[in-house]
This record gives sequence, structure tokens and C-alpha cells, in this order.
Amino acid sequence: METQAPTASFTVIPNRRPATDEERWLAMEDPVFGKVFTDHMARATWREGDGWADRRIVPLAPIPLHPAAAVLHYAQQAFEGLKAYRWADGSIKLFRPEANAARLAASCRRMALPEVSEEDFLAAVEGLVEVDQNWVSGTDGASLYLRPTVIATEASLLVQPAAEVDLLVTASPVGAYMGAAGEGVSIWVSRGYHRANPGGTGDTKTAGNYAASMLPQKEAKEHGCSQVLFLDAREDTYVEELGGMNLVAVRADGSVLTPRLTGTILPGVTRDSILTLLRDEGRTVEERDIALSELVEGMESGEIVELFACGTAAVVTPIARLVSDDLDVSVPERSEDDGPSVAETMRVRLTDIQYGRAEDPHGWVREV
Ligand code: PMP
Repeated sequence: METQAPTASFTVIPNRRPATDEERWLAMEDPVFGKVFTDHMARATWREGDGWADRRIVPLAPIPLHPAAAVLHYAQQAFEGLKAYRWADGSIKLFRPEANAARLAASCRRMALPEVSEEDFLAAVEGLVEVDQNWVSGTDGASLYLRPTVIATEASLLVQPAAEVDLLVTASPVGAYMGAAGEGVSIWVSRGYHRANPGGTGDTKTAGNYAASMLPQKEAKEHGCSQVLFLDAREDTYVEELGGMNLVAVRADGSVLTPRLTGTILPGVTRDSILTLLRDEGRTVEERDIALSELVEGMESGEIVELFACGTAAVVTPIARLVSDDLDVSVPERSEDDGPSVAETMRVRLTDIQYGRAEDPHGWVREV
């Protein structure tokens, strides 16, 4: 049975065997990030000459792929990550989904994939959230993580843009992350490996960037660090970003410093939101090249009082320490007199807007 989708263009084919209430509650209790999925997925297909068609919300299931599907061989792919939040009044909201739609379109252009329009992006995401709305937990800090993905499905070993492409959107309940009040993580500064080159795909959300980051990430773990900080590939001097988060530093005078968007850094929606909120507070925010040596010397002298990473998944993660073969430097310890950190203040400011506990001065929240 097909029913008309609640949105303009995505037809809903309901899952006849959705998780029972009990299964869903169990799955949502303490989900490992990205390992639990809802009952449905959104899907559309594109063919050269025809454009996008078959917009549907269907039961979540493995997808048949030809072994020569271009995505499997040449990683012609782009993806996004955003969240849906349950407010106290029971409504569900998305946070700046238009920004994710625009970034996906930019990633698709770079990967020679057909663009997904903002209208289709929003219809797919909102249609899926609406159908699987009972997977959006109202528990503090919980949310539904949405993963739109565009993949080249054409069976072809020719290295050329595929003529057949799929849009897929999955949804995963995710729990609260430890807030910025935590001690802070140790970060491995990668010396031999770079994430992105000028003219490459560093400012694009595409599979290959993450594939290339796994070996340095493994190296980080072996050194007791939770994530990798990459330096620029051209001069091996300037800090860029972590494998999946942007980097922010706070000076003793309260001003904030973050790497400028050079084309080799992913323009994070969280980064942009936090910089906007910091400027709203009247803080000086500098977006510019930052040498690793400047950070290290600043941490040693006390000029830099905080480092944190930011992104959709964990919101804000305070960084306590930078480690490498020739380096082990810690952010100065905070005392109670210091008051709340900028990282913690920003985590609260941002999540208060996302969960409707505070005013939304920039119109970032969108009703599903
Ligand atoms: N950098 C990289 C490499 C990422 O994968 C992400 C996560 N999308 C971010 C930064 C943070 O981006 P956002 O705030 O949009 O999640």
C-alpha cells in the first residue's frame, strides 16, 4: 500500500514490521553513535537525462548494488550529518538544515555528482523524521542523527561521472554526549599524514577524506589520543582541523582564534554557529592562519587558555592536551575563579537554541 507523503514529493511506503515499542525503547536507551537505525530510509534515484525521480520513504533495508558500482571503486560520493531535536512541547525541530543542503550541493558539485536541490533535501529529511518521529527521544541531550548520502550506483569501471546516482537518508537515535564540563581530550598532531591538499576535496564532505584519516586516527589511538589534528599540506605548519570537527582557541583576553576557511577545511555548521554567537557576545573572533608553534607557545605561556573542537555529533569537545612525536603540551588548568569556560558556555548557548530552551535570534531552527 502506498500513501501520499506528508511532504510534497516523497511517497511513503510504510514498514510493515517496524520495531515494537519495547525494541525501540531498548534501542534508544543508550545507543552507540551511528549503530542503531530507525524503521525507514528516504531514497531517490537520478539518471542522466531524466534527473531525480522515485522520491520515496521506504522500509530500511540493505540496498542491492552491482559489484562494479562506481561508488565502490572510485568513491564518487558525498554526504551530510545533521540532527532533529525533540522540544519540551513535543514538537520536532531541525537545526539549520538549509546550511547542510547547501554544503551537500557544494560537495556534489566537487564530486561531479548531480546536485540535490534544497527542496528535495528538506523533503527527504523532514519526510523521514515525520514517519519515524517516535524515534526522536525527549531525553535530555538525545537527538536523531540524519545521514543524507549521495552515491554513484552506475555499474561502470570507467573513471567518469556516473550516469546513475542514488540519494539515501538514514536516521539514527543518538544519546547525550559528555558535556564540555569534562576534563578534555588528548589530541594527536599528525606529522606524516595530511588530510587535504589545495585543490583537493578537504572542504567537501566526501568518503575519501575519511578513508584517508583512518590510519592517522589509528596512530592517535595508539598514542592514547582520541582524535587527530591535521596540519596544512603545503607548509606543514598551520593547524587546520580534526578528522571530524573544527578547532577553536580562546585567548586570555577572551578573544577567539580559529583557522580560516582555506578550501582545505570543512566549513562546519557548528563552527559558523559558534563564531556567530561569540560575535553576538561582543567577542573578537579572528579567522586566520594559525601556526602549530603559535598554539604551543600560547599554551605554554598562558596566552591561550582554552582549546576546543566543535561539530554536529558531539557539539563541543574541550581539548586538554596536544601530543606528537616531538610534542606534549597541555592547556593551563582552570580554577573555579575562572568561571565557566567558553567551550561550556557555547555548548549551553547552542544546545539551548537547538532544544528550544532559549530564543533563536538568527532563525536557525526549523519546524518539521
Ligand atoms: N570537519 C570535518 C572534517 C567534519 O567531518 C565535520 C562534521 N561534519 C566537521 C568539521 C564539523 O561540521 P559540522 O559542524 O557541520 O558538523
